[in-house]
Amino acid sequence: VFDVLIVGGGPAGAASAIYAARKGINTGVLAERFGGQVLDTLAIENFVSIKETDGPKFAVALEQHVKEYEVDIMNTQRAVKLVPGRIAEVHTATGAVLKAKTVILSTGARWREINVPGEKEYRNHGVAYCPHCDGPLFKGKRVSVIGGGNSGVEAAIDLAGIVQHVTLIEFGGELRADAVLQRKLRSLPNVTVILSAQTTEIHGDGKKVNGLSYKDRNSGELHRVELEGVFVQIGLVPNTEWLKGTVALSKHGEIEIDAKGQTSVPGVFAAGDVTTVPYKQIVIAVGAGATAALSAFDHLIRSGDD
Ligand code: FAD
Repeated sequence: VFDVLIVGGGPAGAASAIYAARKGINTGVLAERFGGQVLDTLAIENFVSIKETDGPKFAVALEQHVKEYEVDIMNTQRAVKLVPGRIAEVHTATGAVLKAKTVILSTGARWREINVPGEKEYRNHGVAYCPHCDGPLFKGKRVSVIGGGNSGVEAAIDLAGIVQHVTLIEFGGELRADAVLQRKLRSLPNVTVILSAQTTEIHGDGKKVNGLSYKDRNSGELHRVELEGVFVQIGLVPNTEWLKGTVALSKHGEIEIDAKGQTSVPGVFAAGDVTTVPYKQIVIAVGAGATAALSAFDHLIRSGDD
């Protein structure tokens, strides 16, 4: 029986593992892909105290740091079910059942993709998902933002201050973002908004992005925009499908937590992008992972059943 079983091996899970193991308690990490989303990125320039690194390097550093401690890492294992209880159970896809006194859920999230030709080919070569992360790479260039909800409009406003020009492309007939954001967007001289537009393809020269095509959904006509970057902002999907019916989830499917990382189920904590935490960033996930581990430890010493 683990004192703490962490499900998810991204930045949040790694931080939880280090904080838990340093308390001298029996700690396990179950992860489908140790490293998490950072494995899918190149430059990381906003992890405070590390001026510049890249995703794969950062993931290796996470794993090496965790391995400094006595942590049972179970990589390439997917959790499919959580059964809460005084001793909780986590069932894996291979049929194993792991038991733990406390559980930390840190299964992260994934960006919703638009699934058009060119998106996968040019990911990290002009196709980006995170304006806070990759915006500065497009300084002085032309970009488009796909998606006119709050995150798309926020991204367009943010990028307009860095890049030469932003074309915001919305599928529907109007933007879905809050009115105050839409007003701000419309006041910016270097932003063009295109409504009722379905992105059909992201073009490139074989190495990097050089254009985007969309279909005008009213006329059916195809148009091409010349640009160097495309930010896809059509939603972040939390990896909580396997948790439905166990812990309370928000309407977006994120795990609801309080300031201590406590979920709706006693002894079950959560951290990082999988939760309702407002900003999805590595440095934030790492802090949340530490919080959840300290809360789990607090729970263990108060439950006094060991
Ligand atoms: P994740 O990193 O998503 O890790 C989740 C973990 O859970 C993984 O190990 C996964 O395999 C595992 N998992 C999921 N489901 C299961 C399951 N059912 N069973 C077992 N394991 C499971 N942030 C920055 O701060 N700076 C950047 O420059 C930056 N660039 C980015 C670029 C890209 C392309 C992307 C996609 C994200 C970027 N981010 C960046 C965001 C950052 O990667 C995330 O905020 C961070 O990784 C969140 O950490 P996490 O531990 O909460 O989740």
